[in-house]
Amino acid sequence: MPLSGIQIYKLLPKTNCKDCGLPTCLAFAMKLAAKQIELAACPHVKADAKAQLADAAEPPVRLITLKTGGAGAREVKSGNETVLFRHEKSFINKPGMFLRVRDDDPIASIQAKVAAAEAYTVRYVGIDLTLDGFAVQATAPFDPARFANVVSAVRASSKRPLILIARDVAVMTAGLRAIDGESPLIHGADASNWEAMAGLAKQHHAPLVACADSLDGLADLTGKLKAKGIDDLVLDPVSRQLGAALTRQTQIRRLALKKDFRPLGYPIIAFPGDATDPTQEAVQAAQAITKYAGFIVLERFAPEMIYPLLVLRENIYTDPQKPIQVLPGLYEINNPKPTDPVLVTTNFSITYFSVANEVEGAGLPAWLLIVDAEGMSVLTGWAAGKFDAERIAKAVKESGIANKVTKHRLVVPGHVAVLSGELEEELPTWEIRVGPREAVDLPAFMKQAL
Ligand code: SF4
Repeated sequence: MPLSGIQIYKLLPKTNCKDCGLPTCLAFAMKLAAKQIELAACPHVKADAKAQLADAAEPPVRLITLKTGGAGAREVKSGNETVLFRHEKSFINKPGMFLRVRDDDPIASIQAKVAAAEAYTVRYVGIDLTLDGFAVQATAPFDPARFANVVSAVRASSKRPLILIARDVAVMTAGLRAIDGESPLIHGADASNWEAMAGLAKQHHAPLVACADSLDGLADLTGKLKAKGIDDLVLDPVSRQLGAALTRQTQIRRLALKKDFRPLGYPIIAFPGDATDPTQEAVQAAQAITKYAGFIVLERFAPEMIYPLLVLRENIYTDPQKPIQVLPGLYEINNPKPTDPVLVTTNFSITYFSVANEVEGAGLPAWLLIVDAEGMSVLTGWAAGKFDAERIAKAVKESGIANKVTKHRLVVPGHVAVLSGELEEELPTWEIRVGPREAVDLPAFMKQAL
């Protein structure tokens, strides 16, 4: 049973020392009860109280981590979510996107599919978007050796996390043996094989998917698996139709968050790749990203589908209170030479892309210096004191741009013309030029005035 804030408070040191970042132990207790802070934030809880608080401290959706080691290693985290709607706070861990291969496909075509997905990366607001891993599915008639062979082939081509999909215990055993020492996500346990699958999960320290087509069935299965000592679980509600999947996944998340129903407090795996139609696959994957998959298995590797899905995921899993930002630093547009101008603006993504696209589209070479204004636009950043002469001068010095250009000309946005005097003092060797207010006017300004 979850503890109330007052029950938690009684177990805390009650010193109000503020080491947890909150003003009082009571405030900490209330936050812990609401799952808005971790127990570890208070370093003074006694061991016996810790044991009693463990239940209260556990996140409503358990964190599951898949990771690999060595060069090219990746980590996928799912769970730890605390809200039903992103605007309430923020979604935390992006769902892992996995591409599926089947063990009855020719090895050469499996390797080609994995290689294409492995090489796929697209840059979006300064972030490299990629798929997270691969799922290997056993197909009937089941053949342990064939499955193991395909698992080995995929592992030889990629170091990203794997999901192994086989309900047949002998097949799963062979697949796990092929990557001995690793802990892939095992899919999965059902009413008929759960004891054997639990044994494999334990032996390989691997998270296990519980599969059942009803909430009662899922809860019953996770209860049995937990009793066997399997804590790292993922739920497959087996609903593959759009409406049914949405309903089931929403029910699971709601029960975990609002009712603290522990048997369903695990990430969900979704299979949009089971759709026969490519459009349906894209639609189901988009739905799974928004509500509420933690792992998503795709069938087709089509960049025109993968790209919008990765961008959607990026947008859904950003903090709505923090604007999307690009990395501060120096960006080169159209291979600039040392005589080309240096344009400066903020790291608000829309500002960056407005400026970069206008200059790039006009075919003009320039150095674009992006200042860390905590993701704010030019005017907002200036008004908030996040885009001022001091920050711009610091960015100029740290970027090393002075050594790359022979003409020290810095173009500041027209909206902050007021900064030019201060900037001249901060950067005495630079000529400060006031550019246009709108990015759309930059090409004409650069052609006429620079
Ligand atoms: S760190 Fe612990 S003891 Fe100190 S105020 Fe926070 S909850 Fe209380």
